[in-house]
Amino acid sequence: MSRSSDPRTYDLDALRDQVLSEHGGTVNDSIPQLGAADPGLCGIALVLPDGTVHSSAQADVPFSVQSAVKPFLFALALLDTDGAACDRIGIEPTGEAFDAIKLESGTGRPPNPMVNAGALLTAALVDGGDVDGRNERILRGLSAFAGRSLEVDEEIARAEHLLGDRNHALAHLMRSEGTLQVSADDAVQVYARACAVLVDAETLAVMGATLACNGVNPVTGERVVPAGIARDVVSVMATCGVYDGSGRWMQSVGIPAKSSVSGAIVLSAPGRLGAAVVSPPLDAQGTSVRGRLVSDRLSADLGLHAFGSTPD
Ligand code: GLU
Repeated sequence: MSRSSDPRTYDLDALRDQVLSEHGGTVNDSIPQLGAADPGLCGIALVLPDGTVHSSAQADVPFSVQSAVKPFLFALALLDTDGAACDRIGIEPTGEAFDAIKLESGTGRPPNPMVNAGALLTAALVDGGDVDGRNERILRGLSAFAGRSLEVDEEIARAEHLLGDRNHALAHLMRSEGTLQVSADDAVQVYARACAVLVDAETLAVMGATLACNGVNPVTGERVVPAGIARDVVSVMATCGVYDGSGRWMQSVGIPAKSSVSGAIVLSAPGRLGAAVVSPPLDAQGTSVRGRLVSDRLSADLGLHAFGSTPD
């Protein structure tokens, strides 16, 4: 199958057809709404620095962003605290699952912003004063990354809040360590609502492209965060974005990324492109099985590996 090494003309539908023959992985069912996802869904999108959006079939099918929101929550927390969020959260990879009940030893800080403990804290650090204010601020900030007004799936937000026992446990643990300043329930509520924001592959690719373009949304031209924040966020995606699979991911795919239980992966290749792929069946580390195949292929065909220089 011939595919262009130019992202503008790359045959994303051919790649999609190819990975659809892969049937491995399990759809996450931590809440009923995620368990009901179509295992056959597969959408891919690329967004270039000139604002070109290039997508496959199903790149416009909505899904809840889940943990793919974490890089953007970190960015907003850095912005709203003038960088102080960096002192409140570690940035070391954990080698553990996304919801491990564990804080950094000695400091009581979350290990990094890409695991649940860290995202509960970053969501609590954005401006807003109370739950409603922070919810509003997060939705506004995420919408700037996306270049359009995003919405929350209220049922998913409620289910995440009610059924997120490990997130409640993590929030209480951070309260007991003095690292979380808001109430545990408020923290879970805000984080749950951020996970329930609806995106599609195209929108998520624009969000990834905004990080890849030094914090400027390439579609709207709006500066969403300063270049230094975009750099910090992409760096932590590279080291921690795929949970306990982060090392293998950087070695093989080589593009900073964030995985999520909805089967989405957002990728940011600085200066080159933003990308997103969604396909619900997950591997043991919570990474979309087809999403990994797509990312591997794009990295090789478009020469996107951070530490390699030529396309295959
Ligand atoms: N909302 C999910 C949770 O907090 C997100 C986890 C993920 O996407 O990896 O459990």
